[in-house]
Amino acid sequence: DRHVVVVGASLAGTRAVEGLRALGHAGHITLIGAEAELPYDRPPLSKDLLKSDWSDDAVAGFRLTSAEALTAAGVELKLGVAATGLDTVARVVRLADGTSVGYDVLIIATGAIARPSPWRPESGVFQLRTLADSRAIAEQLRTGAPLVVVGGGFIGTEIAAAAVGFGCSVTVVDPVAEPMARIVGPDVAGSLVGLHERHGAQARFGVGVTDIRGKLGALEVLLDDGSTIDTAAAVVGIGSIPCIDWLEGSGLTLGNGVLTDGMLRAVGADDVFAIGDVARWPHPGRGVEVRAEHWTNASDQARYVATALTGGVSEPYGSTDYVWSDQYDWKVHTIGWRDPNGSSALVRDLARDGKTAVVHSNGAGEPTGVVTVNWVRGLNLARRLLAAGDPAERIVAELEQLA
Ligand code: FAD
Repeated sequence: DRHVVVVGASLAGTRAVEGLRALGHAGHITLIGAEAELPYDRPPLSKDLLKSDWSDDAVAGFRLTSAEALTAAGVELKLGVAATGLDTVARVVRLADGTSVGYDVLIIATGAIARPSPWRPESGVFQLRTLADSRAIAEQLRTGAPLVVVGGGFIGTEIAAAAVGFGCSVTVVDPVAEPMARIVGPDVAGSLVGLHERHGAQARFGVGVTDIRGKLGALEVLLDDGSTIDTAAAVVGIGSIPCIDWLEGSGLTLGNGVLTDGMLRAVGADDVFAIGDVARWPHPGRGVEVRAEHWTNASDQARYVATALTGGVSEPYGSTDYVWSDQYDWKVHTIGWRDPNGSSALVRDLARDGKTAVVHSNGAGEPTGVVTVNWVRGLNLARRLLAAGDPAERIVAELEQLA
């Protein structure tokens, strides 16, 4: 039976090895991860865990698996050691400790890191991708000192909401006028800005950061409109970059991730797959190559490849395209995607009772996605209708009836 090596021991990697065993793969499995930590879930890092008491129980609740479970599944676990190179001809992964591991099948699940801050004051700039990052930010928030969040995307605004909860005076800065509009559309993006302002966070959108100077406790954030914000600390959340450095020279097709075919097989080598935040694949619905950075996609791609390797699946990977975000007491959910050249129909207004839904269509009027706020029943209905291929008008009408 073939030896499957999985590089990257987080959501995608863990779900892949679990899936392989669950679906009957009998051969050897090796799971290699750069972090010394047992695999853990990342969404809570900007949500529940950030606000938690950081007790052992709180942290343990967000582990994806245990050493015992992996041992019981016969998975050889190598944590705290990064892969540094790949030879796809000899079928060998080189590791940072100087050893190497041969494979019959390789699954690349190395995810992404936070895009490094271009601004480097002496100290006081935080970023969020790992458990250690979240703990450091949590400690800072507990001081109640002023905070600037650079980047008004989901992660930045979730941190802002948590910081407000700790009594910090918070300013969110983003060069884009409506940073979340790309995903949720202008209606919901506008409501989200209002939500943050009502809670006392300041939004400085449409203004870029030119520099951050000073040190923790006494930072200056310089903006391109000539103004300066004095603050104690800053969190820089300006996107992520895929972990592909270790694959240079391997013959794989790299560039904003590892390019795969529709079955998630890496282009450029046999028996190599890429899944999760590191994978860029031709999205069947969107007609373009996509690198998704969402929990459900990482989990689904892992299951898909595990199924393929155990003899199932002949269809290309069809994406779920499901994302959520928690901001204060709001739950934002999106299914599908938003075509910037398309249109959006607001089904239910937030002002009425705090629930909303927006249906996105592409330039040809076909529905591509739905966003809901605080309305899980609407979300579930929309998910069913989208999957059934119903036209946009029908989805809007059914949602209106449910409302
Ligand atoms: P990752 O989780 O990035 O894991 C990759 C692993 O590979 C890491 O442990 C890394 O150390 C390791 N690695 C990297 N390079 C190497 C190497 N050379 N050798 C060995 N190991 C290596 N998604 C949602 O859908 N909803 C949310 O609300 C949400 N919230 C989020 C909040 C935060 C703060 C963050 C950071 C992410 C959030 N996400 C959310 C995204 C979601 O967590 C990711 O999509 C998911 O973690 C992707 O899993 P992955 O296994 O592909 O990659």
